[in-house]
Amino acid sequence: MSHIHRACPICQSLTARPVYQNTMASIDGLDMSYRVARCDQCLLVFADHLPDSDDYEIYYQSLSKYDVGVIDTPLVSPAALPAVAMSMTERLRCDAAIALLRKHTTSNAAIVDLGCGSGMLLGAIRDAGWSRLKGVDPAPRAHAQALALYGLDCVQTGTLNQATTQHDFSATDVVCMMGVLEHLPRLESDLAQLVSALDVGTKILVEVPALECFSRKAHEPFGEFSLEHIQFFSATSLAALFATLGYQPLALSIVELPAGYCDSLMGIFVRAPDAMPAEQPAMVGSMANLLEDYLQNSEKMMTSAIARIAADTASNLVIYGAGSHTARLLPKLPAKELNRISAVVDGNPNLHGKRLGNFVIEAPPALAKYPAATIVVSSFRSQTSIAEMLRATRANAVLTLY
Ligand SMILES: [Zn+2]
Repeated sequence: MSHIHRACPICQSLTARPVYQNTMASIDGLDMSYRVARCDQCLLVFADHLPDSDDYEIYYQSLSKYDVGVIDTPLVSPAALPAVAMSMTERLRCDAAIALLRKHTTSNAAIVDLGCGSGMLLGAIRDAGWSRLKGVDPAPRAHAQALALYGLDCVQTGTLNQATTQHDFSATDVVCMMGVLEHLPRLESDLAQLVSALDVGTKILVEVPALECFSRKAHEPFGEFSLEHIQFFSATSLAALFATLGYQPLALSIVELPAGYCDSLMGIFVRAPDAMPAEQPAMVGSMANLLEDYLQNSEKMMTSAIARIAADTASNLVIYGAGSHTARLLPKLPAKELNRISAVVDGNPNLHGKRLGNFVIEAPPALAKYPAATIVVSSFRSQTSIAEMLRATRANAVLTLY
């Protein structure tokens, strides 16, 4: 396992100041820990020590949460899914993207969604009247899911890199990358390659989590430093990234999302000679202070969560939830608490049998083996629904952390 030191993806500076060590329990042997730093030159916040790209590809192909589609939604029949599976958050994101498409292109436009997942945005775009659609996603099941969930037969499997070498982008009007740029270990080279494959007039629609809003509302401690996010954009740094590629924003604004979800930054970019400079979202405070607030608040929450576990007197514990919350919690737990953990359980079938740190992730029926254990709900966003489900079905004591 090698970790690489990365230059700033925008300005290539090698001098970045560390702000947080994001230590994660290993996932099936992959150590996805990284260090968060702020570039001294352009102030971009990004992971400057991170696993090498081969590990990311293994991770995305075998472990990514995006391969299971709608994680917290119960399974229903595919025919019923498009209507029910879109949460309020997803609806707001899709609506904001469609509003930008309406304003900056025609209904005859050819649209390619890179990192389309199971096709939710493409389905929404089709429902809004567009028909010349394509999608590409690294998840092996993306094609089958897009077909089953949205009746879309236009999704191919591939990384961004493969998409630009294998796909003909000529005559594409808009390339969408929703929730993609924050993931890319080779951000600069992948984007440069993509841009070189695009016609001069092709617009790029982008959505990323808004650093401006990390601490705007209640949040999971350090949750924005997820396993998969390795650069953290503000409106200023997103525009700066595109400027290095010769693009300017036609529009760039914050999309406010419901409690539990970080607000998005969404924009549409075009090659500079054609661009009218967009008004950028007003900054709420200095970027440095906003990040500092987020880190301090996260630290306080994490300390308090660990204290709640320490105060529980059960001789053994079962952790419910094997996502990045648990991956981040386990390395921070004192040995005394760690030694009381008998099992890690998760409802996501994609994770069963995989290892998280020293534990093999088990399916919920395994809870029956530990009748005296306190079940620790290791989730911020879903803690209420998980706790209610556990209390309704198990006699164990249930401990929530927030
Ligand atoms: Zn920089």
